[in-house]
Amino acid sequence: MTSILSVRNLAKHFDGLVAVDDVSFDVPAGSIVGIIGPNGSGKTTLINMITGVYVPSAGDILFDGQSVAGRKSFEIARIGIARTFQNIRLFDELSVLENVMVGADAARGGAYFSALLGLGAELRREADAARDAMALLAAFSDDLVRRADVQAGTLPYADKRRLEIARALALRPRLLLLDEPAAGMSPDEIRTLVREIKGLAVGGLTVILVEHKMRLIEGVTDSVIVLDHGKKIADAPFDQVRRQKNVIEAYLGRSYADAQS
Ligand code: ADP
Ligand code: MG
Repeated sequence: MTSILSVRNLAKHFDGLVAVDDVSFDVPAGSIVGIIGPNGSGKTTLINMITGVYVPSAGDILFDGQSVAGRKSFEIARIGIARTFQNIRLFDELSVLENVMVGADAARGGAYFSALLGLGAELRREADAARDAMALLAAFSDDLVRRADVQAGTLPYADKRRLEIARALALRPRLLLLDEPAAGMSPDEIRTLVREIKGLAVGGLTVILVEHKMRLIEGVTDSVIVLDHGKKIADAPFDQVRRQKNVIEAYLGRSYADAQS
C-alpha cells in the first residue's frame, strides 16, 4: 500500500525533555490512523511537527515522498495537510458558514477576508465561496447545515468541534489531523462523529486522529500508534493493540483486555 505520510526517526527535545523520541511510522493513503497514549506522551508535539508548528530536533517527515520537516505551517497547509486543535479555535462572532469560508480562504488567496473588509472587487467571489462552503458542510455534517446561519460562539460544544473539522476540510486537504475531536462529547455525539469521520475516508481523505475516547478510536481507525514517554510502543489495529501487555500497563488499563474475555 502507498504511504501518504512517512515519519522517520522523528524527535523533539525541549531543553532537557525528550517529548518525541525516535518515532517512525507510515500512514497508508486513504486510511484512518489513531494516535493514543497517556497525557504528556508526545501526541500533540508529533502533530505539531507534522503541521509545521514545531521544527523537529531530528528525523524526517515525508508527505507524498517529499520532505516537509521544518517547513512553515502555511506551506504545509497549502501542500495538503490540514488540522484541528486540541483547544477549539473558531471565530465566535462569525456564522457557521462564514467560519468554513474563512477556512477556504487560504486556498483561495484571501478572497473572503477581502470581502469582509469591504473590498468591492472581491465581493462577487463571496457568493462562490458561500456556495462551496455550504456544499462542504452538507457533505460532512447534516447537523451543521441546519445551523449554517448560527453564530459559531453560540453552538453547543460538540458542534463547535465539528465546525473546526469542516473548516479544516475547506482547505481541501489530502491529510487531515484531528487533535482530540471527541473531547467533551457524549456517547451519542461520538456516534455521529464516527459516521462523519468514516465518511471522510470514503471520500479518499487520509485521517490521523489523536484521541482519548476509545469509542471513537475503535469505531473509525484502521490502525493505532501508541506513544508512551515520547516513544512508539505499539503500531497495529486497535483490536491487537488493546491486548498488548505494554499498552495495557502504560495506558489502557485492565478493562480493555478484560472486555475481550
Ligand atoms: P500529549 O499531547 O500526548 O498530551 P504533548 O505533546 O502536549 O503531550 O507534550 C509532550 C511533552 O512535551 C510534555 O511533557 C509537555 O509538557 C512537553 N511540551 C510540549 N510542548 C512543549 C513546549 N512548547 N515547551 C516545552 N515543553 C513542551
Ligand atoms: Mg495533546
